Amino acid sequence: MPARDDQIPAFRVGHGYDLHRLEPIAPRGPGRPLVLGGVRLEHDRGPVAHSDGDALLHAVTDAVLGALALPDIGQVFPDTDPAHESRDSGEFLRDAVRRAREGGWSVANLDATVILEHPRLAPVKDAIRANLAELLGVPVGRVNVKGKTHERVDAVGEGRAVEAHAVVLLTR
Ligand code: MG
Repeated sequence: MPARDDQIPAFRVGHGYDLHRLEPIAPRGPGRPLVLGGVRLEHDRGPVAHSDGDALLHAVTDAVLGALALPDIGQVFPDTDPAHESRDSGEFLRDAVRRAREGGWSVANLDATVILEHPRLAPVKDAIRANLAELLGVPVGRVNVKGKTHERVDAVGEGRAVEAHAVVLLTR
């Protein structure tokens, strides 16, 4: 029998990870426009995905769902559901944050890392932070986004994929 959780902790931490393959954008290939944290980046490659393929928003959504010990993003928003075709992934995150609030939790902070060889994240980082803060309903000072390359090695380093990691702390 599982132990009873009769001492509800003041904090819950969640971790999220996502990767999307990057392919040439239509009409040259199956890639969608490259969007990270809800912000469009100019690039000739983009994610292959059922939704809009926003790896950062998927990682953050999974971090929030994970902190709540809920099923993961693929279970909550299955890619077999036509309703999620081309869907703005901000809606997934808004839904996860709503679930957190309903459970009595609010977001303390988010720290995230995007690993992308091209293009550079720096010019859009502040726009991404502002958008994430809005989606999470917190001041921008509680949201951090770091951009890394993969040093030209492996699929990510060859520009064939984008990766994102996220850690979210929820507070009572
Ligand atoms: Mg994804």
